[in-house]
Amino acid sequence: MNQIFNFSAGPAMLPKQVLEEAQKELCDYKGCGMSVMEMSHRSDLFRMILEETEQTLRTLANIPLEYDVLFLQGGASLQFAMVPMNFMKHGKAAYILTGHWAKKAYQEAKKFGNVQVLASSEDEQFSYIPEWNLADISNNTDYIYICENNTIYGTKFTTLPNINDKPLVADVSSCFLSEPIDVTKYGLLFAGAQKNIGPAGVTIVIVRKDLIREAVLPEIPTLLRYKTHVDAHSLYHTPPCYSIYMCGKVFLWLLHIGGLEAIQYYNQKKAMRLYDYLDHSRIFKGTAQRAYRSLMNVPFITGNSNMDALFIQKAKEHGLENLKGHRLVGGMRASIYNAMPMEGIEALLACMNQFEKEYGVK
Ligand code: PMP
Repeated sequence: MNQIFNFSAGPAMLPKQVLEEAQKELCDYKGCGMSVMEMSHRSDLFRMILEETEQTLRTLANIPLEYDVLFLQGGASLQFAMVPMNFMKHGKAAYILTGHWAKKAYQEAKKFGNVQVLASSEDEQFSYIPEWNLADISNNTDYIYICENNTIYGTKFTTLPNINDKPLVADVSSCFLSEPIDVTKYGLLFAGAQKNIGPAGVTIVIVRKDLIREAVLPEIPTLLRYKTHVDAHSLYHTPPCYSIYMCGKVFLWLLHIGGLEAIQYYNQKKAMRLYDYLDHSRIFKGTAQRAYRSLMNVPFITGNSNMDALFIQKAKEHGLENLKGHRLVGGMRASIYNAMPMEGIEALLACMNQFEKEYGVK
């Protein structure tokens, strides 16, 4: 097999071990004579897969019983709408704008109520996490919303805007399960699977039970109410069965390698190698401010778009795929999620080093 390293922001790399295990079970899952893809979602076998996947996730992320775990469709983007539809009891929410995805969620929420921008880092191309003042939050605000790791700009919150009686809602799509998480700090958190958790098609939602009620607006479609999915244990309609099964395998892989502390240690080592290189490079430069650097998404530039394009092409020739930055910002971005091995980082550094020798200022 052609050895490449895939630095895509998502869908992204999955652990090879997981893919090989899935390959073995592809046509015949545990001797039942069919693939998980062919199985009824109401069958005992699939219910067991769903139950085990949830339990493994609960163990891994230490999710208390006061929280429900849901496996939904519609991507993280559908959560941008479901959150306000279900949570805006007083028609008010406060958003911190730290990038493209937070802004998208904000724009969606504005369709359902009055949305306050608590802080924004748009003034400096979202290269940092802005400060907020919780005293600024208006009365009757139903929730505070953040995008915890900003996939495009490579920044991450270092502390969370916690306030007693206001639930924190967080989009954790690009950092979920990359480090230990204290679920009790959130009212609801969600993550599209296709970065750190599994294949595209499933979105994991973890929500505090007391926040589940009838949706705020009576006309909200049944499928867009959290209560529908809580009551039916994610089986109200056909769930993304195969994606869920794959997530279960990734969760088990994480447990086997030592859980979230172990993966955090590894992720820090990988990110430090890359950031350290960028900080000393003559031609490459990281774009996120140091204090807010993400462990998962590392955007960088040369400062010259032709050089960027040349580097991306050279990297591809060395089997380093998908290093092009998001179309909104250009440059390069190395997404180094859980499944990216240290060898991938070393291969990237070797390529950058060679590029510097060839094209850097002498
Ligand atoms: N939130 C974040 C932080 C993301 O990175 C992305 C996609 N890259 C989304 C939301 C949108 O996800 P989806 O395509 O699953 O709707």
